[in-house]
Amino acid sequence: MINHLSAQKNLAKHRLPVHSHTETSWQTQLADTINDLDELLEILQLTELKPSLYVPKNFPLRVPRAFVNKMCMGDANDPLLLQVLPQRAELSSVTGYVADPLAENIHNPIQGLLHKYQSRVLITVTGACAIHCRYCFRQHFDYQSNLPSSQQIPAIKYYIESHPEINEVILSGGDPLSVSNRRLIQQLQVFEDLAQITTIRLHTRLPIVIPERLDRVLLDYLTQSRCQIVMVLHCNHANEIDKHTEYYISQAKQAGITLLNQTVLLQGVNDSVSAQVALSQRLFAVGVLPYYLHVLDKVAGAAHFDLTEKKAVELYWQMLAAMPGYLVPKLVREEPHRLFKTPVNLYKVY
Ligand code: SF4
Repeated sequence: MINHLSAQKNLAKHRLPVHSHTETSWQTQLADTINDLDELLEILQLTELKPSLYVPKNFPLRVPRAFVNKMCMGDANDPLLLQVLPQRAELSSVTGYVADPLAENIHNPIQGLLHKYQSRVLITVTGACAIHCRYCFRQHFDYQSNLPSSQQIPAIKYYIESHPEINEVILSGGDPLSVSNRRLIQQLQVFEDLAQITTIRLHTRLPIVIPERLDRVLLDYLTQSRCQIVMVLHCNHANEIDKHTEYYISQAKQAGITLLNQTVLLQGVNDSVSAQVALSQRLFAVGVLPYYLHVLDKVAGAAHFDLTEKKAVELYWQMLAAMPGYLVPKLVREEPHRLFKTPVNLYKVY
């Protein structure tokens, strides 16, 4: 079995010194993300990378300092850095990689509500994220015309009540935890008021990139909710969970929240059995169960992160051999017009 702890120990020597972000509120950290490429490269002592990068306009560089603190200084291949670095490769147009790979725009019966899966609806709380992940399928999504305004709330409630098969609301975005507690709690209350809703799910990367977001006000509210609260974290690499992150995740665990994780399979970031085993073990050690391993959505600008399906399947077989079943996330892909995540066929002959 691969020992991720010793691997982490070795990496820790090269990490940046931990800044005083532990003392800083999540709102301050959110307002103080690194948006300037030169600043990021200087902090990481990687200014020589500049010629292979560019300054994107529509989906600009954005990375919280707490996340940068988990990167290794001087390492151009750091798996966390690769997820946020705008490579010139993004500018190449690659056949098959498109702006809306999931055709989500057609499942929007009401502005801000996506009804694709039978018993669940997805609500776009905000278009904002604390971090801009370069592989994200939402990077070209038209949030401006898809955010629900307060005027839409009655229509959303009416839509859910007219579909008694809906019992779960997924708050998504962007990142739903990037809005204030006041706004988030208002949203939660709308759905808690509907008797048919038994579960509220929050899909978020914020506890990984700014752990302080799991603050007392939010956790106390979630603890007393009449609904089951499920938080699906988005963590792609074991190095994303340092001790500081572990502390805040443990607070969420103690608050009685069901914690799951979804990962995107990314070339150069986590496309090895050792990286996947380390991630699953680290997640489990902090009380989070691996849930999904997503094959990359074929979004324009992200082709350099993609693996062939054959490679993904080969890797997955190795993961099955290396870990107990409860540590192996489901290998899935999202397909337009399918009413569920599609399990990748492990027995296909290539
Ligand atoms: S929606 Fe998630 S994956 Fe996409 S940029 Fe935001 S945090 Fe990253």
